[in-house]
Amino acid sequence: MNDKMYENPIVQGNINRLASLGYLFMEPDTGLMACGTNGKGRFPSPEAIVDYVKGILSKKSDYEGLRILVTAGPTREPIDPVRYISNHSSGKMGYAVAKAALERGAFVKLVTGPVNITPPSGAEVVCVTSAIDMYNEVMKSYESFDVLVMVAAVADYRCASVSESKIKKSGDRFTVELVKNPDIAAELGKVKGDRVLVGFSAETDNLLENAALKLASKNMDMIVANDVTVEGAGFGVDTNIVKFIKRDGSSIDLPIMSKEDVAHRILDEVLSIGKG
Ligand code: C5P
Repeated sequence: MNDKMYENPIVQGNINRLASLGYLFMEPDTGLMACGTNGKGRFPSPEAIVDYVKGILSKKSDYEGLRILVTAGPTREPIDPVRYISNHSSGKMGYAVAKAALERGAFVKLVTGPVNITPPSGAEVVCVTSAIDMYNEVMKSYESFDVLVMVAAVADYRCASVSESKIKKSGDRFTVELVKNPDIAAELGKVKGDRVLVGFSAETDNLLENAALKLASKNMDMIVANDVTVEGAGFGVDTNIVKFIKRDGSSIDLPIMSKEDVAHRILDEVLSIGKG
């Protein structure tokens, strides 16, 4: 395979169609190919193929019968019909949690802000744009879920008023008044009952202190803290370096690992909290 062949919309369409019918796909490797180009299309090593098959055969089904609600991606807060305030969240971490939960047998609802990645097949996906949309969607459905994992990078503020027409360029300065958005995780913390609530804390400094404060103030059962300034962690990349902090004050430091592996570790911890 060559990268252009692999990325061809017809090939991708065929893969997606088969995946939607339940077929599993192992991604090709990236590197130098027989045709001399560099890209995604290499046949993976026999060892990697064996690992992939082993992973499928040893798949856990420990989430069967459980319902998990996941938020993912950024929100967009409109300024006028063509402009918005947002952030760099790619949605990869939230989508990885949704995928891992599906693999382990859960019913998954994924409430997602605007991202450029494909949701895992099998999830109930609701696409939202603003924090208010995400809040409304989560609050209307959380009651029927056992586990709530809030991965979305929700904008803290939105514009006090959204212009109905495109704002014209005028003076050298332009001020936008912002008002606070609802904190979805904190609102869930007030009403969660015995549901397990997990949040994320993307920090640039005082990682543990800030994360522990958030855990307490939002009544979470566990918070996943990551320093987004460290290479290999945070927005956009396929890996993450996180610490889990639990309600009892205990914490677990994980090494750099793929977002898929982080997702599975989160789900392992959620089960231990649920049983605790
Ligand atoms: O923004 P902050 O660092 O406080 O976010 C921590 C956690 O709270 C994350 O899990 C995030 O998804 C959630 N959150 C939310 N609604 C907000 C802000 C944050 O659900 N308005």
